[in-house]
Amino acid sequence: MNRRLPTAQELEASGLRLPPDAVVAIDGPAGSGKSTTARAIARDHGLVYIDTGAMYRALTLAALECAVATSDGPDLADLLGRSDLALRPSDGETVVLWNGEDVSRGIRAPAVDAAVSAVSAHPEVRRRMVERQRELGRRGGVVMEGRDIGTVVFPLATA
Ligand code: C5P
Repeated sequence: MNRRLPTAQELEASGLRLPPDAVVAIDGPAGSGKSTTARAIARDHGLVYIDTGAMYRALTLAALECAVATSDGPDLADLLGRSDLALRPSDGETVVLWNGEDVSRGIRAPAVDAAVSAVSAHPEVRRRMVERQRELGRRGGVVMEGRDIGTVVFPLATA
């Protein structure tokens, strides 16, 4: 079924309150306004915004810093598997922590822009990242945004 989701404005106008353990999955291609919508819903409903692109960016930055080749899927998946990746809400923004270090700025560097799509294309990396994302959503209270969120990460979310 392909029902249209309400826009963030429609949701606000409806007065509907999302429960604190809601999992909101926002899917769509680049440039479709997903992150603006996700941020607005998270802010208005007291949920944590999970930017899945930032998760792939954090792994990419770590790979560049540890000289793990962005062409090596198994090594990249291994790097992710032995690292701690956390997203913390702070002042309406999401802080990205890699092994406890705030990498929120570093993940927006041009070198990361250039390498992130190669890193995220590896099936081993995607499998492990999707596990992390499901784990983050397990207790609810999140707005998760990314191109595969409704189809792969939370396929049972209603739309
Ligand atoms: O959204 P953002 O530009 O930060 O995402 C960075 C990159 O991470 C995307 O270009 C894409 O290659 C990858 N990505 C992905 N799956 C997601 C989110 C991002 O492959 N769910």
